[in-house]
Amino acid sequence: MTAGVLYVVATPIGNLGDISARALRVLSEVAAIAAEDTRHTAQLLQYFSIQRPLIALHEHNEATQAGVLIERLRAGDSLALVSDAGTPLISDPGFRLVSAAHAAMLPVRAVPGASAAMAALSVAGQASDRFVFEGFLPAKSAARRARLQELAPERRSLIFYEAPHRLQETLDDMRAVFGRRSITLCRELTKAFETVLRMDLAELCERVRQDEDQRRGEIVLVLEGCAQALTPVDEHRRVLDILLQDLPVSQAASLAARLTGGRRKWFYEEALARENRT
Ligand code: SAM
Repeated sequence: MTAGVLYVVATPIGNLGDISARALRVLSEVAAIAAEDTRHTAQLLQYFSIQRPLIALHEHNEATQAGVLIERLRAGDSLALVSDAGTPLISDPGFRLVSAAHAAMLPVRAVPGASAAMAALSVAGQASDRFVFEGFLPAKSAARRARLQELAPERRSLIFYEAPHRLQETLDDMRAVFGRRSITLCRELTKAFETVLRMDLAELCERVRQDEDQRRGEIVLVLEGCAQALTPVDEHRRVLDILLQDLPVSQAASLAARLTGGRRKWFYEEALARENRT
């Protein structure tokens, strides 16, 4: 018996006109469609007059559901995997299923289309030859700042997804960690209120503070990478800043010295100076 094919199908991120002809054909021909939210996908299918059975596959059931879907593929059924919007697996469920399909030597095929990250990068006006996709930052400020500190030396453009209610605090944290950098706010891409704003980070912080419309809808941030390689002293300060988020001064200084090969005394004095400043 020939095994079925698992099609990973991208769907629009807003404008339904962005669905591809091939996506529509695959969605109408597969035995069933595994969807992050079956009610959401039912509306999409209804709009395109497609009637196929839907199976829920989300982060809470993926571990068990993947096994069931693998058996169907083995039995010869071709299946499509979709998420609520954009490309599955990109900050969306599907990794376990795709990974299990490979482990079972089953064919996996891409039906590419919209992804908010790529759409944002294409209009952001930030360097696009090399970039890093960071997805969502941690929700809590301390963890978010620690992650941003880790990213500080990154030379490539950085792409983040962000929830509208966290936008302001994330921008404020970015400003505190990165200082002067160009950044592009890409909001509601392909939809009625699509907005693309490229400016200095400090300017964007204030713009978003003053204009609550900029804190609505779906958001991607594309941040300029670090302009210059960090000097060894910058790098030592960066390591110390990360450790000080979770450790007391003395321990942070010892660990920083061990990690970098620097002098413990230098780190200790730097850490005390930081404490005095706050
Ligand atoms: N898999 C999707 C993709 O390929 O883009 C991303 C799913 S992730 C759960 C949802 C996030 O993507 C949103 O919170 C937002 O950051 C971003 N996003 C989705 N649609 C967007 C749009 N139309 N404009 C801007 N950002 C969008």
